[in-house]
Amino acid sequence: MIRISAIDVFPLRLPMKQSFRISQGTVGTISAGAPHIYVRITGDNGVEGWGEARPSPRWSYETPESVCSAVSNYMRPALLGQRADDLAGIHRMMNRELAGSLHPGQPIAKAAVDTALHDLIARSYGLPVAALWQTGSSHPVRLSYLISTDSPEEAARKAREAVAEGYTGVDVKIGLNPANDLDIVAAVKQEAPKLFFRVDANQAYRLTQAIQLAKGLERIGVDVLEQPLLANQLHGHAELRRKVSIPIALDESVWSPSGVLEALRSEACDIIVIKLTKMGGLRGAKLCGEIARESGLGLLGGGLTESKLGLVASAHLFRYLELTDPVDLNGPMFLKDDAVEGDWPIRSGEVILPEGPGIGCRISESKLQDYAADAT
Ligand SMILES: [Mg+2]
Repeated sequence: MIRISAIDVFPLRLPMKQSFRISQGTVGTISAGAPHIYVRITGDNGVEGWGEARPSPRWSYETPESVCSAVSNYMRPALLGQRADDLAGIHRMMNRELAGSLHPGQPIAKAAVDTALHDLIARSYGLPVAALWQTGSSHPVRLSYLISTDSPEEAARKAREAVAEGYTGVDVKIGLNPANDLDIVAAVKQEAPKLFFRVDANQAYRLTQAIQLAKGLERIGVDVLEQPLLANQLHGHAELRRKVSIPIALDESVWSPSGVLEALRSEACDIIVIKLTKMGGLRGAKLCGEIARESGLGLLGGGLTESKLGLVASAHLFRYLELTDPVDLNGPMFLKDDAVEGDWPIRSGEVILPEGPGIGCRISESKLQDYAADAT
């Protein structure tokens, strides 16, 4: 039995090499960097586990300040002294301290704690984190190349880069300027006709616009349209599905196993986007993925531009779930550095997973200091 003896929170501001926008606005810039919070949990056996939260207030309501407060002021008092290897019990306690309403309360903060505990438990056993799930999967984890611009010329240039760098999929963010979305998508298709093609609207459309958009995307040859309507519009997405044939994926609409079931009952999507952060960590994301798969839904993987720590944790899960289409783990495309030692574990658009114990990332104490930020 391993008990939790310390929980430490490290708010960071990581440097970016390119700014990143979605339809709701900017989520990180070269001048200001991006907020990431690392969480370290130490067991009474002396082993440390690490997890990451990457709040994006333009994507959902959590902020760097709310993550630090949630972990330091609510979870830490409840979890110190508890069994680190009782993940079901830990999640019950976290959900009691920060209750959910329409969806689980503060899932990004809980994800950092959940990930750190998976790391701690697996390290204590001397095993890679995926061994906790009794899997022998060696499925490749391929990445999509993310394109976020309102210029068709820039989109075409990035699509050429994606092909040249060996990526097998692209993800185009639309809704930044809806008037030229189809021009951007067509420019990418022309330069990368064979790549898996995912288009993510991040809730930018209303139903009548989305029907027109989806028909245009079908003509161009897009493989999936993600979250065209507001997160709470399951019936709108169901109506859209009845009118068009392009597969519809839900991301911001689905945060939990009950959300997967509600989307299924509403016939609102063909595909669920699995993300460790929004689903409260590896445990919730794994459960959502398994329920969706057993129910006949497709799965796509994604992230919120986490640094290498969150990226590798997600990649372990996506390998376990054997996701076939390229996943959105795009932190390295935007971040200049993070607090993990070593190079980016990516070659030709594929994540090279570490084989060491736990998640497999070593954290640099000096970089934690270099990138320390105030989040009070
Ligand atoms: Mg998305």
